Amino acid sequence: MLLNKNKEENCLDLKYEYPVVEMFHSIQGEGFWCGVNAFFIRLAGCDVFCPWCDQKETWVMKKYPLFTVENIVNNLLNINTKHIIITGGEPLLHNLFPLTNVLKKQGYITHLETSGSHPFTGDFDWVTFSPKPYKKTDESIYNHVGELKVIIDNENDFIFAELEASKIADNVPKYLQPQWENPLSKELIFEYILRHPQWRLSLQTHKFLGVR
Ligand code: SF4
Repeated sequence: MLLNKNKEENCLDLKYEYPVVEMFHSIQGEGFWCGVNAFFIRLAGCDVFCPWCDQKETWVMKKYPLFTVENIVNNLLNINTKHIIITGGEPLLHNLFPLTNVLKKQGYITHLETSGSHPFTGDFDWVTFSPKPYKKTDESIYNHVGELKVIIDNENDFIFAELEASKIADNVPKYLQPQWENPLSKELIFEYILRHPQWRLSLQTHKFLGVR
């Protein structure tokens, strides 16, 4: 499967289709690029099933309309941004080469937000790797990580976070982010970072702003 995907590294197929949940212009609320003007493409489908997922409506792929690469890039015509963030759901359920190849050719900076649970595809300038304990990580992600971001819901998640961090180079920024619905998670992270300064705090600032 991976071989077939890699064969499409140079593919510029404007008719390639993706199920799209939503596309919108906003500000990246989390992690290393927090505060940056960006356009989000949220692809449908996820088989990780995090119990606290705030995007559960994205899980079922077939609920959403298919957009060609051409349709997607047409949505960018009047948008003043350089950054395109492909998110989900779990975007690596899809072959991301056709979309990212066209975006790169048009000069955009491409970002991926992924749990890393499926083989890596696509041409990305930045990869936010947010592994989850609910599905095994695919080894192909580890060569591409721009930042590690682990959601903390309870104490056990720190063990998982350290395990994933041990597989990633020291100079890659590493974030702990509270599970939004669990107020206790903020306190746990605050105390943890004081004891483990290699970690940074990521907050979902778009939720404080009340925007997408
Ligand atoms: S990987 Fe992301 S989209 Fe999928 S269930 Fe977990 S939080 Fe939700």
